[in-house]
Amino acid sequence: MDSQEQKRISVVAPAFNEEDSIQAFHSRLLVTVQSLPQYDWQIVYVNDGSRDGTLGVLKNIVEQDQSSSSHTVTVVDLSRNFGKEIAMTAGLDKVDADAVIVIDTDLQDPPELIPQLIEKWEEGYDAVYAKRRERYGETAIKKWTAASFYRLMARLSRVHIPRDTGDFRLLSRPALDALKQLREQHRFMKGLFNWIGFDQVAVEYDRDPRFAGESKFNYWKLWNFALEGVTSFSSLPLRMATYLGIFIAFGAFLYGALIIFKTLFWGEAVQGYPSIMVTVLLLGGVNLIFLGMIGEYLGRMFNETKGRPLYIVKQTYQSLPNRAEI
Ligand code: UDP
Ligand code: MG
Repeated sequence: MDSQEQKRISVVAPAFNEEDSIQAFHSRLLVTVQSLPQYDWQIVYVNDGSRDGTLGVLKNIVEQDQSSSSHTVTVVDLSRNFGKEIAMTAGLDKVDADAVIVIDTDLQDPPELIPQLIEKWEEGYDAVYAKRRERYGETAIKKWTAASFYRLMARLSRVHIPRDTGDFRLLSRPALDALKQLREQHRFMKGLFNWIGFDQVAVEYDRDPRFAGESKFNYWKLWNFALEGVTSFSSLPLRMATYLGIFIAFGAFLYGALIIFKTLFWGEAVQGYPSIMVTVLLLGGVNLIFLGMIGEYLGRMFNETKGRPLYIVKQTYQSLPNRAEI
């Protein structure tokens, strides 16, 4: 990159039913953007099929923004709700910059942290992730489930996912180009961000409660999210079937020997309804669990083989920068 030329930084912000917070988010983001005029800014909002007035607010932001010269605002309106992971990808695909910052629009990720992320990037890191020091406004159970999830992932997969990090982070151009090559349908972004490698570094911050509205993640969704994480990054559950099978077969062999021994030497009369029931039920249960697990992987393979595009864009709105003084 020519040092004389202005570096370009993009902000990608996915929004799903955020009509109450997006305007406040945009105002706070603009304060940060305007405090760093040495960069050329591209703000990309992705409307992830919101069912409220989010798109209207975003269109309004684009219109109000026509006269600015230090930044442009782009709104990518997806054809339906594709989920945050894909919404982020749609935004990242729009990016044309030297670095990109991914941030939530519910103000849980403070835009004020952006200068610190950029500072680390300027020091030469390719990926700078924001690490939560404290999660305000979240229940003890949510904190606990999140913590156990990170621990489980660390055990299960070779990809190291730093604890207490969300998607709030900065990626350099090379890291972004690497990430863009990963086109899988089942996108566990936290894993993908780390799969690409590069020199990564953390910046700590306190996570605020949501500005408005409800978190879109209930426990059922979180469970599915965890399942996604595990099945996308580890085949260990499949291998567990083998090990458990060996263990049970070994036990069955010993128990079988005991029964034969008892019958031959004690001449025991026909008995054993309880043991038969226990064995049949146990094996049936174990079989079904692992069949289900294989199904999880098979279903994901099925989705990948269809080769569908990740998302469909309905329309893109773009503010026109006033380049008069350039
Ligand atoms: N989001 C999205 N699509 C979805 C769900 C969420 O784009 O289907 C966005 C949402 O607008 C927000 C971010 O993803 O900017 C994080 O969502 P949320 O606050 O619900 O998650 P949490 O902070 O509880 O993890
Ligand atoms: Mg949130």
